[in-house]
Amino acid sequence: MISENLVQVKRCIIEAAKRAGRDPSGVRLLAVTKEQSDATVAKGIQAGMTLLGENKVQEASGKIEAFGRKNGLEWHFIGRLQKNKVKFIFDLFDLIHSVDSLALAEAIHKKAQKIGSCMPILLQVNISGEKSKLGIDPLDLPREIRKFAKLEGVKISGLMTIPPFDRNPETSRPYYARLRELRDTCSSLNIPRIYLDELSMGMSNDYEVAIEEGATLVRVGTGLFGPRPSLGKRTVG
Ligand SMILES: *Cc1c(COP(=O)(O)O)cnc(C)c1O
Repeated sequence: MISENLVQVKRCIIEAAKRAGRDPSGVRLLAVTKEQSDATVAKGIQAGMTLLGENKVQEASGKIEAFGRKNGLEWHFIGRLQKNKVKFIFDLFDLIHSVDSLALAEAIHKKAQKIGSCMPILLQVNISGEKSKLGIDPLDLPREIRKFAKLEGVKISGLMTIPPFDRNPETSRPYYARLRELRDTCSSLNIPRIYLDELSMGMSNDYEVAIEEGATLVRVGTGLFGPRPSLGKRTVG
């Protein structure tokens, strides 16, 4: 089941990239393993998933201990990161998708400096302006991003967003287009130490639309593993 889902999702990624005239190798699939059992994650890895995404530090820590890191597997953090958990992320994650404030970036920077490290991060942008969603206001970003650039303990590798959930994937398209435009605007400022190569956008229901709009990282959970054990109460964002 999981291996068939993986084949299918990979095929859809390639087709979406081609529709947009993009090289499919410019899109990476992040398999979102949150809430899935170790047995399920093992099947995913067996099937060939190499990029894994978690949204809770503690849960991720257990899985990373079980499956390892730097052995061909990369773990990304996609959830709400509390400042008191920042000290753990360096041993666990290769990329943090969800840095939603300057204060959080500063906390990561400070810890990184202390241990002589640098953490690649994406800035989460609240394109939809929903109160329930975290993220930087897109209107503030072109000005704010200079402050992020000064933090040597983080590498600003791109932007991430979560649109309002809707069954119809086309509803997501304008949000993803706006994130890409915002990226282009910020890139054109030519600020040192701001890279913005990555656009993390698209989930199970809308990753093809996201790819058509320029996603380089799609975060797919249920589309690969089936429903999460707790699904019903939504834990996205
Ligand atoms: C859970 C989650 C996903 C995956 O959602 P699916 O709809 O299961 O693909 C993607 N991104 C974030 C931030 C999430 O929390």
